[in-house]
Amino acid sequence: MPTQRVSDDVHMIDTPYHGRTGVLGTYVVAGERVTVVDPGPASQVPSVIEALDRLGVEEVSTIALTHIHLDHAAGCWMMLERYPGAVVHCHPRGVDHMVDPSKIEDAAREAFGDKIEEYGEIRGIPKEKLKASVDRERLRLGGVELQVFYTPGHSFHSQSYYEPKGRVLFAGDAAGHTPENRGAVIPASPAPYNPVQAAESLNRMEALDPSVLCISHFGFHGGAVKWLRDFRRQVLLWERLASEGVEEDRTLTETYLTVLDADSEARKLVSTDPEAEGHVYSSLAGFVSYARWVKSRK
Ligand SMILES: [Zn+2]
Repeated sequence: MPTQRVSDDVHMIDTPYHGRTGVLGTYVVAGERVTVVDPGPASQVPSVIEALDRLGVEEVSTIALTHIHLDHAAGCWMMLERYPGAVVHCHPRGVDHMVDPSKIEDAAREAFGDKIEEYGEIRGIPKEKLKASVDRERLRLGGVELQVFYTPGHSFHSQSYYEPKGRVLFAGDAAGHTPENRGAVIPASPAPYNPVQAAESLNRMEALDPSVLCISHFGFHGGAVKWLRDFRRQVLLWERLASEGVEEDRTLTETYLTVLDADSEARKLVSTDPEAEGHVYSSLAGFVSYARWVKSRK
């Protein structure tokens, strides 16, 4: 199980996702108490526990969720079986869905079909194990601190965590993803995605002046401020192209071609892997559905 050191207090576990590494990163913040950021779905949790064992971790005090999508959070019940003392932190709008994940499961099944079987068993967790986060809250974890910032856009229940000593920012899916781990960044934007909120959240993250950016799909990256700035520009570009596409009644393919033309990251992704086209399409669909919603309110 590849585990990599991110900073003095932070490690990344590269949990093999059905045999593939470089897909889902779980982060461990090890102060006197141990925090796990986004343990993943139940299919991944045994590997996360194995990696924690190897790191010598016996107890986990905190599970910090960047949001409650199933690929980040659905395995919390299994973490709690192994670490019954842990408390799960998430955005207040995610709490009820963590207790009863049926709506999130239905939405994921609608978007991804039977592929969600890959996540393993989906179960809720007891309400008393959950702690609704407060914006700007500081979690003191024994010599290490995590600051919570609401960063909606990717989802309404997205929040990021900042570790100020190592200047490490855990953004979950709010700072893009690198499909197939090919080094090209595009938005992670399933409907109901909100690019305007996403851009505001990126400003917020940039203002922290982080040094290292940890994203879930995938990896940890130096040059965090430049990443956030470039990514924000990309989000605003996609938003403009999606909105022009909707105004001018373009098909998704026509809008996709305008994105490929204007965005070198999308171009890089598709040129390294023609199959990655699907990732650009599905990310773009979230922008188009937002643009349609905006138009419907005019
Ligand atoms: Zn997500």
